Amino acid sequence: NSAIQAGKWHQGAGMKAFYDILIVGAGHAGAQAAIALRQKKFEGSIGLVGNEKYPPYERPPLSKEYLAGDKPFERILLRPESFWPEREIDLLTGNRVSKIDPVAKKVTLTSDDEIGYGKLIWATGGSPRMLDCPGSQARNIHAVRSRADVDKIMAALPSVDKAVVVGGGYIGLEAAAVLTKLGKQVTIVESLDRVLSRVAGEPLSRFYEAEHRRQGVTIELEASVSGFETNDEGIATAVTLADGRTLAADMFVVGIGIIPETGPLVAAGAATGNGVDVDSHCRTSLDDIYAIGDCAAHSNAFADGAMIRLESVQNANDQAKVAALDIIGEEAEYDSVPWFWSNQYDLKLQTVGLSAGHDSHVVRGDPDSRSFSVIYYRDGKVVALDCVNATKDYVQGRKAVVEGLNLDKNELVDTDIPIKEVGVR
Ligand code: FAD
Repeated sequence: NSAIQAGKWHQGAGMKAFYDILIVGAGHAGAQAAIALRQKKFEGSIGLVGNEKYPPYERPPLSKEYLAGDKPFERILLRPESFWPEREIDLLTGNRVSKIDPVAKKVTLTSDDEIGYGKLIWATGGSPRMLDCPGSQARNIHAVRSRADVDKIMAALPSVDKAVVVGGGYIGLEAAAVLTKLGKQVTIVESLDRVLSRVAGEPLSRFYEAEHRRQGVTIELEASVSGFETNDEGIATAVTLADGRTLAADMFVVGIGIIPETGPLVAAGAATGNGVDVDSHCRTSLDDIYAIGDCAAHSNAFADGAMIRLESVQNANDQAKVAALDIIGEEAEYDSVPWFWSNQYDLKLQTVGLSAGHDSHVVRGDPDSRSFSVIYYRDGKVVALDCVNATKDYVQGRKAVVEGLNLDKNELVDTDIPIKEVGVR
């Protein structure tokens, strides 16, 4: 269905010169902030400015059902098109904020239009980190961040036999799974010694490596990209690795993380480091400016209070709600338990907590059965669970993470004992 075409949508809403709440970034966090304000009966004006040309949509399906062609765009919209005007939320898509004046309390768009605000919510996510090496500008090297990125991939697929995916994180692995399912010959190139090394423990990494190989994917570990060979038309024909090998392919997909979109806030003087620093109410160091979602660095209780950014729908939605409550004067602090999911082939991974920095782990169930969980401990407390096709463990393990329980490891490995009945030491 082509009803929601680029550029068509945003003509609906007229732009005001001032909004009581101006939200920049119409992704998961920005959209949820607007929704939460209206749910809380906030009656002031709300403007939702988005760089992309589409109404707010879900990003996770971009590397899953949308890329696979299993879900059309209409089915990944965060809300039906009619929702925004009905709630009097002015959706100003196709507009990029280039400057913030925190004293005059106004933003400037790349069109030079200015919009004043009472309070500003910065919800701009991040832009995909791309490779910077010879040939890396070739037009068949793709990111997987926006609908536009994935539409380009999908349009090119009919003439693709071989694809190289650079990056063995969740997005790279999910893209590899879909491309494989679509009959492409896929190679994953990962610079570290295992996939998912930044987000999961070794048993999970090895399990996913084995699964991908079983599906026909080639995985090159400890392999870093040094450049791309290109033809006369500027098309990349092969990727070159640091050890001198070349891997020929028709398409290259890069999933190596994001760079938080913080430029205008940095220029305006906000405290930033790895993203925009926010307090537990999602307030930045600048008056009346909040930041939420992928771009916001916050002290997270589940990371021992470290300042981190979380790139997840959970974090985007929960921070949006905190900012909305703070704006309307209701007490709220961000202390949500992190959770995440990933779908690859017929495997549903559900994660709760943060495993980074764990000092031991237990594997519950047999990975060969394709249903198991990895439970991570730090200082004798459960800090996270990765559950593969094991929703019961995920649901029951949440309490252990929230309460930092020291679950008995001998009982935990016994799958006949439900996690909620495992003893605490
Ligand atoms: P975004 O959703 O990225 O929205 C930010 C918006 O701001 C974008 O539309 C951007 O164009 C716009 N913008 C940026 N700068 C400006 C500017 N200056 N002016 C105006 N607009 C601007 N999370 C999960 O929990 N589970 C998953 O399975 C999962 N899968 C994912 C798969 C993919 C392919 C991707 C890309 C992400 C996935 N995520 C997943 C992560 C999740 O989608 C993000 O954490 C979430 O989208 C963050 O929301 P956000 O609003 O902070 O940023």
